[in-house]
Amino acid sequence: MAFTLPALPYAANALEPHIDARTMEIHHGKHHNAYVTNLNAALAGKPEENMSIEEICKNISKYPAPVRNNGGGHYNHSLFWTIMGPNAGGAPTGALGDAINAAFGTFDEFKTKFNAAATGRFGSGWAWLIKDASGMLAITSTPNQDNPLMDVAEVKGTPLLGLDVWEHAYYLNYQNRRPDYCAAWWNVVNWKEVAKRFA
Ligand code: MN
Repeated sequence: MAFTLPALPYAANALEPHIDARTMEIHHGKHHNAYVTNLNAALAGKPEENMSIEEICKNISKYPAPVRNNGGGHYNHSLFWTIMGPNAGGAPTGALGDAINAAFGTFDEFKTKFNAAATGRFGSGWAWLIKDASGMLAITSTPNQDNPLMDVAEVKGTPLLGLDVWEHAYYLNYQNRRPDYCAAWWNVVNWKEVAKRFA
């Protein structure tokens, strides 16, 4: 198998009460697993089996829809699990905290703008904090399983932080209340991991 489902770096119930265990089990074990399975099926016997998912995303316009959808799904979820954690939340410090303040004013203003991107994404997709080619931070969002690495993205850059706003990410606990999910999610953001990605 070229691509494999990464293990969750914490227990499925570790993000409660903000994200419930059943949601995590289905999201990781069913949804993410299906992206991996379908990506492997789409690339079976092709040289891309030996490429990184990042390289595939960067040239995604060369590939058919199953690679874009499932490859994006694999990249996005692999990132998503790592930038969350138990005993997390709060505000970033150090160079990342300084860069967020420089780009957005204050941490609260950053969160307001990020939440606007997350709640304003019509249908399924993701909100992102990215570092662009000039090293500046920016907030963007993408539809479906696209991401800012992709050559088809409206705003391109390296994802530092991503928030999944597909209904499968929150519906069991929050139903139609996407803004409540987005607000609660800040309590599980693992800023140490985001800072590593920034560095
Ligand atoms: Mn998802």
